[in-house]
Amino acid sequence: MLDADFFRRWMTTAAASVDREAGRLTALDSAIGDADHGSNLQRGFTAVAAALAKEAPDTPGAVLTLAGRQLISTVGGASGPLYGTLLRRTGKALGDAAEVGEEQLAAALREGVDGVMKLGGAAPGDKTMIDALVPAVDALGSGFAAARTAAEEGARATTPLQARKGRASYLGERSVGHQDPGATSSALLIAALADTAEADGE
Ligand code: ADP
Ligand code: MG
Repeated sequence: MLDADFFRRWMTTAAASVDREAGRLTALDSAIGDADHGSNLQRGFTAVAAALAKEAPDTPGAVLTLAGRQLISTVGGASGPLYGTLLRRTGKALGDAAEVGEEQLAAALREGVDGVMKLGGAAPGDKTMIDALVPAVDALGSGFAAARTAAEEGARATTPLQARKGRASYLGERSVGHQDPGATSSALLIAALADTAEADGE
């Protein structure tokens, strides 16, 4: 079972990973966007880690809801409200249970991803974070490692696509040939989840 501490460690692991990879995320966003994705998420996840340290929410749902709120209030770009919705909706779906199982997390994450699709209007194949998140959630039933692989493959598979949503879509055909920054950061978020589970021997 996964408790609040597991979810706090997932978020702090994600924050460290975003910190490490911020330069790469911004470089990807400079090719097909406005070169701020790394700094956007760095600001957001730094605020998430600080809020979690200060408030220490004691259920999985409360951890993700607080994290989502921080992302919405600190990230200026499109990705803030989208990632914020992902975490808030997932947290809400987990309710106020003190511990949740893997299946419950998979179902809750699916609700979160559905919330992102509703808010942003993107579907799989539009070259967005959805292209990493949907395969990850689909694979989560087979375990955390499978979800990580699926997210990474989904992110890589955005390279030949033409963007149909977000800033990159303004480039039309010129968006082809570059990996989507948001799909790349989504793969980092899922990898952080798998790392946290592996550290626990899940
Ligand atoms: P901005 O585009 O406002 O500068 P960021 O650079 O932080 O915001 O984030 C860009 C990423 O957000 C894109 O690479 C894409 O994955 C994701 N994104 C943008 N618009 C959408 C959308 N409508 N639905 C899902 N994801 C989106
Ligand atoms: Mg940007």
